[in-house]
Amino acid sequence: LSSIIALIADLVDANHILARHEVLDAYGHVSVRHPHKPDHFLLSRSRAPELVARGDIIEFDLDRKAIGADRQKPYVELAIHSEIYRFRPDVMAVVHSHSPWVVPFSVSSTRLMPVYHMSSFLRGGAPVFDIRKDFGVTDLLVRSPEQGAALAATLGSGNVSLMRGHGFVTVANDLPTAVFQAIYTDLNSRLQQQAIALGGEVTYLDRAEADRAWQTNRATVSRPWELWKKQVRGGKRK
Ligand SMILES: [Zn+2]
Repeated sequence: LSSIIALIADLVDANHILARHEVLDAYGHVSVRHPHKPDHFLLSRSRAPELVARGDIIEFDLDRKAIGADRQKPYVELAIHSEIYRFRPDVMAVVHSHSPWVVPFSVSSTRLMPVYHMSSFLRGGAPVFDIRKDFGVTDLLVRSPEQGAALAATLGSGNVSLMRGHGFVTVANDLPTAVFQAIYTDLNSRLQQQAIALGGEVTYLDRAEADRAWQTNRATVSRPWELWKKQVRGGKRK
């Protein structure tokens, strides 16, 4: 029981951290798989992430049914989370963002690639999910389990997938790493656009470099996580 209380506190912090870094604004969301019930996950009710509090967190099963008497309005795009947890048993946390820095790479033939070691988890570049391919004209939102499954298929065994004209998802085997990847996907997008704007040829991390750099960085995620938690809990610069 204490582990679930701590996890919910971390999930609330994750909402505030991602809002503070402008990876999430009034939209986007972050979830975590239930630590004891692998076919359940925890996600806020439909609310701006910066405002999310403990009482907003709802437990869902993979059929997107709220557990218990929880009747709070959920996010429309619940299926992003349910279907990724269904298809990726290794995934413990999911972030979905509409970052305006990332979106250009979802509509351009220029692939999002790792510019520096901090975003080495982008190794090989991020695929783009185009909802129009299988579902024709939509409002671009992932509303159905079929659409969530198609997104999960594009993500494959990777950790980031862009969503054409919409945003991106990132997944990891713990919550701090998913938050880390969301923040550094956003930063990498800014840097890649700066590098391209310089006009010269851009050299990205190659696959072997990226593998090595990610091995190093993933072992250090607790350092920024501790800092970011302190920043949002201190109540300063919010
Ligand atoms: Zn969305």
